[in-house]
Amino acid sequence: MNCPQCGKPINRHYRGLCQSCYKYFKGGGKIHDIPAAGTIAYDDQGKVICHICGKSFVRLGSHVKENHDLTIAEYKEKFGLCHSARTTEKTYSETMRQHAKNNGMNQQLLESGKATQIQKGETDKRKGKKARLQELLDKRKRKFKK
Ligand SMILES: [Zn+2]
Ligand SMILES: [Zn+2]
Repeated sequence: MNCPQCGKPINRHYRGLCQSCYKYFKGGGKIHDIPAAGTIAYDDQGKVICHICGKSFVRLGSHVKENHDLTIAEYKEKFGLCHSARTTEKTYSETMRQHAKNNGMNQQLLESGKATQIQKGETDKRKGKKARLQELLDKRKRKFKK
């Protein structure tokens, strides 16, 4: 008999399902709509939805390897996904990205702060120069007039 969920032959029954399906549904897993080729879709928990079976996983790579006998590279190739496409849980990746962003932002703020200060100073200097230049020109004009 094959698993009614994934179609794989069942060696040992787990309430009529294969072991991996049983574990998946026991953990509250759902079958989602298959995402369109070339796009990565996430479930409401931010898990990545599989293009083959519609189940969602924190790490799609290990799932496709175990259940569909594909490496993540083959999987991406098959479903038109970019090689750099993220196939790990959204919240996990986003938390990591947020961390990086925050660290980067602090740096950027510091840098932009410095830049603004320098720019302000420069503008003042320029203004000062202009004013002085105008003064010089006026003086020269006066000299010429004399
Ligand atoms: Zn199954
Ligand atoms: Zn799958």
